[in-house]
Amino acid sequence: MERSEPEAAGPGPSPGLTDEQFRGRIRSWLAENLAGEFAGLRGAGGPGREHEAFGQRIAWDRKLHAAGWTPLGWPREHGGQAVPLCQQLIFHEEYALAGAPARVSHIGEQLLGPTLIAFGTPEQRRRFLPAIATVSELWCQGFSEPGAGSDLASVATAGRLSGGQWEITGQKVWTSLAHVADWCFVLARTEPGSRRSAGLSMLLVPMRQPGVTVRPIRQLTGTSEFNEVFFDRARTGADMVLGDPGDGWRVARYLLGVERGAATFGQQIEFRAEFDGIVALARRTGAAADAVLRERIARAWVGLEVLRAYALDTIAEAGPGAGPEASVLKLLWARWHKELGELAMDVAGAGGMVAAAEPYELDQWQRLYLFGRTDTIYGGSDEIQLGIIAARALGLPREPAATAGVRA
Ligand SMILES: Cc1cc2nc3c(=O)[nH]c(=O)nc-3n(C[C@H](O)[C@H](O)[C@H](O)COP(=O)(O)OP(=O)(O)OC[C@H]3O[C@@H](n4cnc5c(N)ncnc54)[C@H](O)[C@@H]3O)c2cc1C
Repeated sequence: MERSEPEAAGPGPSPGLTDEQFRGRIRSWLAENLAGEFAGLRGAGGPGREHEAFGQRIAWDRKLHAAGWTPLGWPREHGGQAVPLCQQLIFHEEYALAGAPARVSHIGEQLLGPTLIAFGTPEQRRRFLPAIATVSELWCQGFSEPGAGSDLASVATAGRLSGGQWEITGQKVWTSLAHVADWCFVLARTEPGSRRSAGLSMLLVPMRQPGVTVRPIRQLTGTSEFNEVFFDRARTGADMVLGDPGDGWRVARYLLGVERGAATFGQQIEFRAEFDGIVALARRTGAAADAVLRERIARAWVGLEVLRAYALDTIAEAGPGAGPEASVLKLLWARWHKELGELAMDVAGAGGMVAAAEPYELDQWQRLYLFGRTDTIYGGSDEIQLGIIAARALGLPREPAATAGVRA
Protein backbone atom coordinates (compact mmCIF):
# COMPACT_ATOMS: atom_id res chain seq x y z
CA MET A 1 0.00 0.00 0.00
CA GLU A 2 1.30 3.49 -0.82
CA ARG A 3 2.08 5.86 2.01
CA SER A 4 1.24 9.54 2.20
CA GLU A 5 -0.36 11.88 4.68
CA PRO A 6 -3.77 10.79 6.00
CA GLU A 7 -6.42 13.15 4.70
CA ALA A 8 -8.99 15.11 6.70
CA ALA A 9 -12.61 13.96 6.71
CA GLY A 10 -14.24 14.23 3.29
CA PRO A 11 -17.68 13.35 2.03
CA GLY A 12 -16.73 9.83 1.01
CA PRO A 13 -14.33 8.03 -1.29
CA SER A 14 -13.31 9.93 -4.38
CA PRO A 15 -11.36 8.57 -7.35
CA GLY A 16 -7.60 8.68 -7.18
CA LEU A 17 -7.15 8.58 -3.40
CA THR A 18 -4.06 6.72 -2.25
CA ASP A 19 -4.66 3.88 0.19
CA GLU A 20 -3.49 6.01 3.12
CA GLN A 21 -5.71 8.92 2.10
CA PHE A 22 -8.63 6.54 1.74
CA ARG A 23 -7.93 5.12 5.20
CA GLY A 24 -7.70 8.58 6.72
CA ARG A 25 -10.96 9.60 5.11
CA ILE A 26 -13.04 6.61 6.25
CA ARG A 27 -11.48 6.72 9.72
CA SER A 28 -12.38 10.36 10.30
CA TRP A 29 -15.81 9.96 8.73
CA LEU A 30 -16.62 7.11 11.12
CA ALA A 31 -15.27 9.03 14.12
CA GLU A 32 -17.39 12.05 13.24
CA ASN A 33 -20.57 10.18 12.34
CA LEU A 34 -20.69 7.31 14.79
CA ALA A 35 -21.72 9.94 17.28
CA GLY A 36 -24.85 11.70 18.50
CA GLU A 37 -27.92 9.60 17.72
CA PHE A 38 -25.67 6.86 16.28
CA ALA A 39 -23.20 6.65 19.17
CA GLY A 40 -25.18 3.86 20.82
CA LEU A 41 -24.80 1.69 17.73
CA ARG A 42 -21.18 0.81 18.45
CA GLY A 43 -20.93 -2.98 18.53
CA ALA A 44 -24.67 -3.48 17.83
CA GLY A 45 -26.11 -6.33 15.80
CA GLY A 46 -23.32 -8.92 15.98
CA PRO A 47 -23.84 -12.70 15.83
CA GLY A 48 -26.97 -13.68 17.74
CA ARG A 49 -27.81 -9.99 18.24
CA GLU A 50 -29.25 -9.20 14.80
CA HIS A 51 -32.44 -7.80 16.38
CA GLU A 52 -30.57 -5.00 18.20
CA ALA A 53 -31.47 -1.42 17.20
CA PHE A 54 -32.70 -2.65 13.84
CA GLY A 55 -34.46 0.54 12.75
CA GLN A 56 -31.49 2.68 13.73
CA ARG A 57 -29.12 0.36 11.89
CA ILE A 58 -31.19 0.82 8.73
CA ALA A 59 -30.86 4.59 9.20
CA TRP A 60 -27.11 4.11 9.65
CA ASP A 61 -26.84 2.03 6.45
CA ARG A 62 -28.71 4.78 4.58
CA LYS A 63 -26.35 7.39 6.01
CA LEU A 64 -23.34 5.39 4.81
CA HIS A 65 -24.85 5.30 1.34
CA ALA A 66 -25.75 8.99 1.34
CA ALA A 67 -22.13 9.83 2.17
CA GLY A 68 -20.96 7.70 -0.76
CA TRP A 69 -19.47 4.79 1.22
CA THR A 70 -21.68 2.04 -0.19
CA PRO A 71 -21.86 0.05 -2.37
CA LEU A 72 -18.09 0.30 -2.52
CA GLY A 73 -17.24 -2.46 -4.97
CA TRP A 74 -20.03 -2.10 -7.56
CA PRO A 75 -19.06 -0.47 -10.86
CA ARG A 76 -19.89 3.22 -11.17
CA GLU A 77 -22.38 2.70 -13.99
CA HIS A 78 -24.44 0.59 -11.57
CA GLY A 79 -24.37 3.11 -8.75
CA GLY A 80 -21.27 1.86 -6.94
CA GLN A 81 -17.94 3.48 -6.09
CA ALA A 82 -15.75 1.03 -8.07
CA VAL A 83 -13.21 1.16 -5.26
CA PRO A 84 -10.28 -1.27 -5.74
CA LEU A 85 -10.19 -4.46 -3.69
CA CYS A 86 -7.41 -3.20 -1.45
CA GLN A 87 -9.43 -0.13 -0.43
CA GLN A 88 -12.54 -2.25 0.14
CA LEU A 89 -10.42 -4.20 2.60
CA ILE A 90 -9.29 -0.98 4.27
CA PHE A 91 -12.93 0.13 4.55
CA HIS A 92 -13.89 -3.12 6.28
CA GLU A 93 -10.85 -2.90 8.58
CA GLU A 94 -11.63 0.64 9.66
CA TYR A 95 -15.34 -0.13 9.94
CA ALA A 96 -14.66 -2.99 12.34
CA LEU A 97 -11.98 -1.08 14.26
CA ALA A 98 -14.46 1.75 14.88
CA GLY A 99 -16.93 -0.79 16.30
CA ALA A 100 -19.51 0.28 13.69
CA PRO A 101 -22.72 -1.80 13.75
CA ALA A 102 -23.42 -4.96 11.73
CA ARG A 103 -24.91 -4.00 8.36
CA VAL A 104 -28.57 -4.89 7.74
CA SER A 105 -28.38 -4.67 3.95
CA HIS A 106 -25.48 -7.04 3.30
CA ILE A 107 -27.50 -9.81 1.57
CA GLY A 108 -28.75 -7.39 -1.09
CA GLU A 109 -25.60 -5.34 -1.38
CA GLN A 110 -22.93 -8.00 -1.13
CA LEU A 111 -24.62 -11.14 -2.51
CA LEU A 112 -27.46 -10.25 -4.86
CA GLY A 113 -26.04 -6.93 -6.14
CA PRO A 114 -22.93 -8.43 -7.79
CA THR A 115 -25.06 -11.32 -9.14
CA LEU A 116 -27.61 -8.89 -10.64
CA ILE A 117 -24.76 -6.98 -12.24
CA ALA A 118 -23.39 -10.22 -13.72
CA PHE A 119 -26.67 -11.85 -14.85
CA GLY A 120 -29.50 -9.27 -14.68
CA THR A 121 -31.28 -7.69 -17.62
CA PRO A 122 -30.96 -3.89 -17.95
CA GLU A 123 -34.55 -3.59 -16.62
CA GLN A 124 -33.82 -5.79 -13.61
CA ARG A 125 -30.71 -3.79 -12.79
CA ARG A 126 -32.63 -0.52 -13.08
CA ARG A 127 -35.46 -1.88 -10.96
CA PHE A 128 -33.43 -3.40 -8.13
CA LEU A 129 -29.89 -1.99 -7.85
CA PRO A 130 -30.85 1.56 -6.75
CA ALA A 131 -33.27 0.20 -4.12
CA ILE A 132 -30.54 -2.08 -2.76
CA ALA A 133 -27.97 0.72 -2.73
CA THR A 134 -30.25 3.19 -0.96
CA VAL A 135 -31.37 0.50 1.52
CA SER A 136 -35.01 0.98 0.58
CA GLU A 137 -35.48 -2.76 -0.07
CA LEU A 138 -34.01 -5.63 1.94
CA TRP A 139 -33.41 -9.11 0.50
CA CYS A 140 -33.16 -12.66 1.79
CA GLN A 141 -31.67 -15.81 0.28
CA GLY A 142 -34.11 -18.65 -0.46
CA PHE A 143 -31.83 -21.58 -1.27
CA SER A 144 -31.96 -24.18 1.55
CA GLU A 145 -34.93 -26.50 2.00
CA PRO A 146 -35.65 -29.29 4.47
CA GLY A 147 -34.39 -31.77 1.84
CA ALA A 148 -31.76 -29.56 0.20
CA GLY A 149 -28.94 -28.06 2.28
CA SER A 150 -25.45 -29.23 1.38
CA ASP A 151 -27.07 -31.12 -1.45
CA LEU A 152 -28.56 -27.98 -2.91
CA ALA A 153 -29.39 -29.56 -6.25
CA SER A 154 -32.20 -31.46 -4.51
CA VAL A 155 -34.25 -28.24 -4.46
CA ALA A 156 -37.94 -29.14 -4.80
CA THR A 157 -39.71 -25.76 -4.53
CA ALA A 158 -41.61 -25.50 -7.80
CA GLY A 159 -42.02 -22.48 -10.07
CA ARG A 160 -44.33 -22.57 -13.08
CA LEU A 161 -45.59 -19.96 -15.50
CA SER A 162 -49.30 -19.41 -15.03
CA GLY A 163 -51.43 -16.53 -16.30
CA GLY A 164 -48.34 -14.60 -17.41
CA GLN A 165 -46.63 -14.85 -14.02
CA TRP A 166 -44.42 -17.27 -12.09
CA GLU A 167 -46.32 -19.18 -9.44
CA ILE A 168 -44.14 -20.59 -6.64
CA THR A 169 -45.03 -23.40 -4.22
CA GLY A 170 -42.72 -25.05 -1.70
CA GLN A 171 -40.75 -24.53 1.51
CA LYS A 172 -37.45 -22.86 2.28
CA VAL A 173 -35.67 -23.07 5.63
CA TRP A 174 -32.90 -21.31 7.59
CA THR A 175 -33.74 -18.16 5.63
CA SER A 176 -31.78 -15.39 7.37
CA LEU A 177 -33.66 -12.12 7.89
CA ALA A 178 -36.74 -13.29 5.92
CA HIS A 179 -38.88 -11.66 8.63
CA VAL A 180 -37.63 -8.21 7.60
CA ALA A 181 -37.00 -8.79 3.89
CA ASP A 182 -39.02 -7.19 1.09
CA TRP A 183 -37.78 -9.62 -1.56
CA CYS A 184 -36.30 -13.11 -1.74
CA PHE A 185 -34.13 -14.67 -4.42
CA VAL A 186 -35.55 -18.16 -4.69
CA LEU A 187 -33.87 -21.16 -6.28
CA ALA A 188 -36.81 -23.08 -7.76
CA ARG A 189 -37.39 -26.06 -10.04
CA THR A 190 -39.07 -24.58 -13.09
CA GLU A 191 -38.83 -27.58 -15.42
CA PRO A 192 -41.13 -30.31 -14.08
CA GLY A 193 -39.42 -33.71 -13.99
CA SER A 194 -35.92 -32.21 -14.23
CA ARG A 195 -33.24 -33.62 -11.96
CA ARG A 196 -30.40 -32.26 -9.88
CA SER A 197 -28.85 -29.04 -11.15
CA ALA A 198 -30.77 -29.00 -14.44
CA GLY A 199 -34.12 -27.22 -14.74
CA LEU A 200 -33.61 -24.75 -11.86
CA SER A 201 -34.22 -21.01 -12.10
CA MET A 202 -33.42 -18.06 -9.85
CA LEU A 203 -36.70 -16.23 -9.25
CA LEU A 204 -36.99 -12.78 -7.64
CA VAL A 205 -40.06 -12.96 -5.43
CA PRO A 206 -41.75 -10.20 -3.37
CA MET A 207 -42.15 -11.30 0.25
CA ARG A 208 -45.13 -9.15 1.18
CA GLN A 209 -47.96 -11.04 -0.51
CA PRO A 210 -50.66 -13.49 0.65
CA GLY A 211 -48.84 -16.56 -0.75
CA VAL A 212 -45.77 -16.11 1.50
CA THR A 213 -45.70 -17.15 5.19
CA VAL A 214 -42.63 -16.55 7.36
CA ARG A 215 -42.20 -18.46 10.62
CA PRO A 216 -39.24 -17.49 12.83
CA ILE A 217 -37.06 -20.29 14.18
CA ARG A 218 -35.89 -19.73 17.76
CA GLN A 219 -32.16 -20.35 17.97
CA LEU A 220 -29.82 -21.34 20.81
CA THR A 221 -29.18 -17.66 21.46
CA GLY A 222 -32.89 -17.18 22.22
CA THR A 223 -33.21 -14.92 19.16
CA SER A 224 -34.43 -15.67 15.63
CA GLU A 225 -31.99 -14.72 12.92
CA PHE A 226 -33.46 -17.22 10.50
CA ASN A 227 -36.89 -18.55 9.52
CA GLU A 228 -38.97 -21.08 7.68
CA VAL A 229 -40.56 -19.59 4.56
CA PHE A 230 -43.61 -21.19 2.94
CA PHE A 231 -44.65 -20.34 -0.62
CA ASP A 232 -48.23 -21.27 -1.41
CA ARG A 233 -48.89 -20.22 -4.99
CA ALA A 234 -46.90 -17.04 -4.38
CA ARG A 235 -46.55 -14.92 -7.50
CA THR A 236 -43.95 -12.86 -9.27
CA GLY A 237 -43.68 -11.35 -12.76
CA ALA A 238 -42.67 -13.48 -15.75
CA ASP A 239 -39.65 -11.18 -16.17
CA MET A 240 -38.48 -11.83 -12.58
CA VAL A 241 -36.08 -14.62 -13.45
CA LEU A 242 -32.39 -13.85 -12.99
CA GLY A 243 -30.39 -15.39 -15.84
CA ASP A 244 -32.10 -17.68 -18.31
CA PRO A 245 -34.95 -19.94 -17.13
CA GLY A 246 -33.39 -23.33 -16.41
CA ASP A 247 -29.93 -21.78 -15.85
CA GLY A 248 -30.44 -21.06 -12.15
CA TRP A 249 -27.69 -23.41 -11.02
CA ARG A 250 -25.02 -21.30 -12.74
CA VAL A 251 -26.45 -18.13 -11.17
CA ALA A 252 -26.62 -19.76 -7.72
CA ARG A 253 -23.03 -20.96 -7.93
CA TYR A 254 -21.84 -17.50 -8.85
CA LEU A 255 -23.68 -16.08 -5.84
CA LEU A 256 -22.25 -18.72 -3.50
CA GLY A 257 -18.74 -17.85 -4.72
CA VAL A 258 -19.38 -14.23 -3.78
CA GLU A 259 -20.75 -15.36 -0.39
CA ARG A 260 -17.53 -17.11 0.54
CA GLY A 261 -15.23 -14.43 -0.83
CA ALA A 262 -15.56 -10.65 -0.87
CA ALA A 263 -18.46 -10.67 1.56
CA THR A 264 -16.19 -11.93 4.36
CA PHE A 265 -13.63 -9.10 4.14
CA GLY A 266 -14.31 -7.39 7.45
CA GLN A 267 -14.29 -10.56 9.46
CA GLN A 268 -10.67 -10.72 10.53
CA ILE A 269 -10.88 -7.34 12.21
CA GLU A 270 -14.11 -8.22 13.97
CA PHE A 271 -12.38 -11.41 15.07
CA ARG A 272 -9.46 -9.32 16.32
CA ALA A 273 -11.84 -7.16 18.37
CA GLU A 274 -13.45 -10.28 19.87
CA PHE A 275 -10.03 -11.74 20.61
CA ASP A 276 -8.88 -8.52 22.31
CA GLY A 277 -12.07 -8.58 24.38
CA ILE A 278 -11.29 -12.11 25.53
CA VAL A 279 -7.74 -11.12 26.52
CA ALA A 280 -9.19 -8.25 28.57
CA LEU A 281 -11.71 -10.67 30.11
CA ALA A 282 -8.86 -13.08 30.97
CA ARG A 283 -7.06 -10.30 32.84
CA ARG A 284 -10.22 -9.51 34.80
CA THR A 285 -11.18 -13.08 35.68
CA GLY A 286 -7.62 -14.15 36.51
CA ALA A 287 -7.65 -16.67 33.64
CA ALA A 288 -4.58 -14.91 32.25
CA ALA A 289 -2.56 -16.51 35.05
CA ASP A 290 -3.76 -20.03 34.25
CA ALA A 291 -1.04 -21.86 32.31
CA VAL A 292 -3.43 -23.89 30.13
CA LEU A 293 -5.65 -20.92 29.26
CA ARG A 294 -2.63 -18.70 28.54
CA GLU A 295 -1.45 -21.30 26.07
CA ARG A 296 -4.87 -21.47 24.39
CA ILE A 297 -5.03 -17.68 24.18
CA ALA A 298 -1.59 -17.63 22.56
CA ARG A 299 -2.68 -20.35 20.12
CA ALA A 300 -5.77 -18.36 19.23
CA TRP A 301 -3.58 -15.35 18.48
CA VAL A 302 -1.34 -17.46 16.22
CA GLY A 303 -4.43 -18.79 14.46
CA LEU A 304 -5.66 -15.26 13.85
CA GLU A 305 -2.31 -14.23 12.36
CA VAL A 306 -2.39 -17.25 10.03
CA LEU A 307 -5.94 -16.43 9.02
CA ARG A 308 -5.12 -12.85 8.20
CA ALA A 309 -2.01 -13.76 6.21
CA TYR A 310 -3.89 -16.42 4.23
CA ALA A 311 -6.83 -14.13 3.54
CA LEU A 312 -4.62 -11.29 2.29
CA ASP A 313 -2.51 -13.67 0.24
CA THR A 314 -5.39 -15.44 -1.49
CA ILE A 315 -7.44 -12.30 -2.10
CA ALA A 316 -4.40 -10.66 -3.68
CA GLU A 317 -3.53 -13.75 -5.75
CA ALA A 318 -6.84 -15.09 -6.93
CA GLY A 319 -9.52 -12.58 -6.06
CA PRO A 320 -12.35 -13.19 -3.63
CA GLY A 321 -14.42 -16.34 -3.90
CA ALA A 322 -12.09 -18.00 -6.36
CA GLY A 323 -11.10 -21.66 -6.39
CA PRO A 324 -10.29 -24.02 -3.52
CA GLU A 325 -8.57 -21.15 -1.68
CA ALA A 326 -12.02 -19.88 -0.72
CA SER A 327 -12.74 -23.29 0.83
CA VAL A 328 -9.45 -23.26 2.76
CA LEU A 329 -10.28 -19.79 4.08
CA LYS A 330 -13.81 -20.82 5.05
CA LEU A 331 -12.46 -23.86 6.91
CA LEU A 332 -9.78 -21.82 8.69
CA TRP A 333 -12.01 -19.01 9.87
CA ALA A 334 -15.02 -21.18 10.77
CA ARG A 335 -13.00 -23.52 12.97
CA TRP A 336 -11.00 -20.72 14.51
CA HIS A 337 -14.08 -18.69 15.36
CA LYS A 338 -15.99 -21.62 16.80
CA GLU A 339 -13.00 -22.44 19.04
CA LEU A 340 -12.80 -18.78 20.07
CA GLY A 341 -16.33 -19.07 21.48
CA GLU A 342 -15.25 -22.12 23.48
CA LEU A 343 -12.19 -20.24 24.74
CA ALA A 344 -14.40 -17.30 25.77
CA MET A 345 -16.53 -19.62 27.90
CA ASP A 346 -13.49 -21.14 29.61
CA VAL A 347 -11.99 -17.71 30.24
CA ALA A 348 -15.31 -16.51 31.70
CA GLY A 349 -15.21 -19.48 34.11
CA ALA A 350 -18.22 -20.71 36.05
CA GLY A 351 -19.99 -17.35 35.56
CA GLY A 352 -20.19 -18.12 31.86
CA MET A 353 -22.79 -20.78 32.62
CA VAL A 354 -25.26 -18.33 34.11
CA ALA A 355 -27.54 -16.19 31.96
CA ALA A 356 -26.76 -12.49 32.29
CA ALA A 357 -30.39 -11.62 33.05
CA GLU A 358 -33.85 -13.19 33.29
CA PRO A 359 -35.43 -14.90 31.49
CA TYR A 360 -32.70 -15.71 28.98
CA GLU A 361 -30.57 -12.65 28.35
CA LEU A 362 -27.10 -13.73 27.27
CA ASP A 363 -23.90 -11.73 27.40
CA GLN A 364 -21.57 -11.14 24.44
CA TRP A 365 -19.40 -14.21 25.16
CA GLN A 366 -22.31 -16.59 25.63
CA ARG A 367 -23.76 -15.42 22.30
CA LEU A 368 -20.39 -15.81 20.61
CA TYR A 369 -20.11 -19.35 21.94
CA LEU A 370 -23.63 -20.40 20.95
CA PHE A 371 -23.88 -18.61 17.61
CA GLY A 372 -20.36 -19.79 16.76
CA ARG A 373 -21.78 -23.32 16.46
CA THR A 374 -23.23 -22.21 13.12
CA ASP A 375 -19.91 -21.10 11.62
CA THR A 376 -18.97 -24.56 10.40
CA ILE A 377 -22.42 -25.04 8.82
CA TYR A 378 -23.53 -21.99 6.85
CA GLY A 379 -21.86 -20.90 3.62
CA GLY A 380 -20.99 -24.58 3.01
CA SER A 381 -20.20 -26.90 5.95
CA ASP A 382 -16.69 -28.03 6.92
CA GLU A 383 -17.22 -31.46 5.38
CA ILE A 384 -18.35 -29.92 2.10
CA GLN A 385 -15.30 -27.63 2.02
CA LEU A 386 -13.02 -30.61 2.64
CA GLY A 387 -14.71 -32.45 -0.24
CA ILE A 388 -14.08 -29.47 -2.54
CA ILE A 389 -10.43 -29.29 -1.48
CA ALA A 390 -10.00 -33.05 -2.01
CA ALA A 391 -11.48 -32.85 -5.51
CA ARG A 392 -10.28 -29.47 -6.78
CA ALA A 393 -6.97 -28.89 -5.02
CA LEU A 394 -5.78 -32.50 -4.79
CA GLY A 395 -7.50 -34.03 -7.82
CA LEU A 396 -8.90 -36.92 -5.77
CA PRO A 397 -11.97 -38.71 -7.19
CA ARG A 398 -15.28 -37.05 -6.28
CA GLU A 399 -17.96 -38.77 -4.27
CA PRO A 400 -20.56 -40.25 -6.65
CA ALA A 401 -23.40 -38.24 -5.08
CA ALA A 402 -21.39 -35.05 -5.24
CA THR A 403 -20.76 -34.97 -8.97
CA ALA A 404 -23.32 -32.27 -9.64
CA GLY A 405 -25.15 -30.21 -7.17
CA VAL A 406 -23.38 -30.05 -3.83
CA ARG A 407 -23.36 -26.49 -2.45
CA ALA A 408 -19.90 -25.42 -3.61
C1 LIG B 1 -26.85 -19.23 10.80
C2 LIG B 1 -27.29 -19.81 9.48
C3 LIG B 1 -27.84 -18.98 8.52
C4 LIG B 1 -28.29 -19.52 7.31
N1 LIG B 1 -28.85 -18.68 6.39
C5 LIG B 1 -29.33 -19.20 5.24
C6 LIG B 1 -30.01 -18.35 4.30
O1 LIG B 1 -30.18 -17.14 4.52
N2 LIG B 1 -30.50 -18.90 3.17
C7 LIG B 1 -30.34 -20.23 2.88
O2 LIG B 1 -30.76 -20.66 1.81
N3 LIG B 1 -29.71 -21.07 3.75
C8 LIG B 1 -29.22 -20.57 4.92
N4 LIG B 1 -28.59 -21.41 5.83
C9 LIG B 1 -28.54 -22.84 5.57
C10 LIG B 1 -27.16 -23.41 5.28
O3 LIG B 1 -26.71 -23.07 4.00
C11 LIG B 1 -27.29 -24.94 5.45
O4 LIG B 1 -27.50 -25.18 6.82
C12 LIG B 1 -26.07 -25.68 5.00
O5 LIG B 1 -25.93 -25.61 3.60
C13 LIG B 1 -26.11 -27.17 5.43
O6 LIG B 1 -27.32 -27.74 5.04
P1 LIG B 1 -28.22 -28.56 6.08
O7 LIG B 1 -28.41 -27.70 7.28
O8 LIG B 1 -29.42 -29.05 5.36
O9 LIG B 1 -27.34 -29.80 6.56
P2 LIG B 1 -27.10 -31.14 5.73
O10 LIG B 1 -26.74 -30.81 4.33
O11 LIG B 1 -28.22 -32.07 5.98
O12 LIG B 1 -25.81 -31.67 6.46
C14 LIG B 1 -25.84 -32.34 7.73
C15 LIG B 1 -24.43 -32.82 8.04
O13 LIG B 1 -24.01 -33.75 7.04
C16 LIG B 1 -22.77 -33.33 6.45
N5 LIG B 1 -22.75 -33.66 5.02
C17 LIG B 1 -23.73 -33.39 4.11
N6 LIG B 1 -23.35 -33.78 2.89
C18 LIG B 1 -22.11 -34.33 3.03
C19 LIG B 1 -21.18 -34.93 2.10
N7 LIG B 1 -21.44 -35.02 0.79
N8 LIG B 1 -19.99 -35.37 2.61
C20 LIG B 1 -19.71 -35.27 3.93
N9 LIG B 1 -20.56 -34.72 4.84
C21 LIG B 1 -21.74 -34.25 4.40
C22 LIG B 1 -22.74 -31.84 6.66
O14 LIG B 1 -21.42 -31.33 6.64
C23 LIG B 1 -23.38 -31.70 8.02
O15 LIG B 1 -22.45 -31.93 9.03
C24 LIG B 1 -28.14 -20.90 7.05
C25 LIG B 1 -27.57 -21.74 8.04
C26 LIG B 1 -27.17 -21.20 9.23
C27 LIG B 1 -26.56 -22.13 10.25
